[in-house]
Amino acid sequence: MSVPSVSEQLRYFNQQRPKIVKTIRQLVEIESPSDVKQAVDRLGTVLASRFAELGGRVLVHPAAKFGNHLQVEFKGSGKNKTEKPVLLLGHMDTVYPIGTISKMRCRVAKGLLYGPGVLDMKSGIALALHAIEAMLKWNTGKLPRLMTILLVSDEEVGSTSSRLITEALARKSSAVLVLEPAQGLALKTARKGICEYTLKVTGKAAHAGLDFEKGHSAIVELAKQIWQISQLTDIKRGTTVNVGKVSGGTRANVVAAEATAIIDVRVSRMGDGIEIDNRLRSLKTFNRNCQITISGGMNRPPMERSAAGTGLYDKATSIADELGWKLEEASVGGGSDGNFTAALGIPTLDGLGGVGEGAHAEHESVIISELPKRAALLAALIARI
Ligand SMILES: [Zn+2]
Repeated sequence: MSVPSVSEQLRYFNQQRPKIVKTIRQLVEIESPSDVKQAVDRLGTVLASRFAELGGRVLVHPAAKFGNHLQVEFKGSGKNKTEKPVLLLGHMDTVYPIGTISKMRCRVAKGLLYGPGVLDMKSGIALALHAIEAMLKWNTGKLPRLMTILLVSDEEVGSTSSRLITEALARKSSAVLVLEPAQGLALKTARKGICEYTLKVTGKAAHAGLDFEKGHSAIVELAKQIWQISQLTDIKRGTTVNVGKVSGGTRANVVAAEATAIIDVRVSRMGDGIEIDNRLRSLKTFNRNCQITISGGMNRPPMERSAAGTGLYDKATSIADELGWKLEEASVGGGSDGNFTAALGIPTLDGLGGVGEGAHAEHESVIISELPKRAALLAALIARI
């Protein structure tokens, strides 16, 4: 059997549509919040057997606090002895607590498939399964090239336990394709870097009526700091500084001895992240009797729009051209594990998962008619890297 043309591949995936939907439903119905290890492991076991059925070699990376991370390897045609694998990167965890499925039922309505995690990113995992299955069929039981799939279990909570695995596998790969949802219909060629800081102010407590002047309010100091920090936002440059949480004080009649702010910083460039970090670490107090400490730093480096990443994007657009649709690229504020791999200089293209809306929200859904196109794009891209 010879490998079909991309338009024939798309026709094949259109026929496979009910099966793709069935797989997504199966994955959505196994709830997998990041913080419930057994739940994520249950999904991991099901996925391990689906990939093993296709002939993948499954490796489990045990994690103590999170679900185990799943690595699957597929052999290529063997024609190119020096070839490096393509890494498909995804995550099994979702932001939804156990029981959400009973309120946010997995259901089809008006061409959309709804459910917790359906877009972010269980449809992406299902697309990978079906793309691999099809490629095996078209290439008489072998994939056109070496492939590694890594599905981590802690992406929604910062990827602390999986980051080193992701980075180690990316270094050995020729390219990374990230199964996160598309942005509208677009692929993601740039993502902002994310930093989180905690700013803690210590003042001096005093009775607000008897000894007011002996106190040094940590809250007043923090309020001034917040105003100052907020000036670091530069929308045009893509830098945002958001003080998202504040706490402090004990009661209304006490001058507050302590106050804390949690700050989310997003940057488009690595250099901007370093600059903001320096500015935050050199903050001075307004009230000399207060002390400030700042902790935290960059969690995910920015995925800058790089020549290598856009080379992959160009390949994807030419595939889309052949299929008669127009693909676009987007730069987004949210991060993914693709930020880690792009920062290592490995060509990375993100947003290859489902198309839909409402990630992390009650109306989370994927557009069913877009699924075959995304599967066709993924399969053709893997074959051409
Ligand atoms: Zn995601």
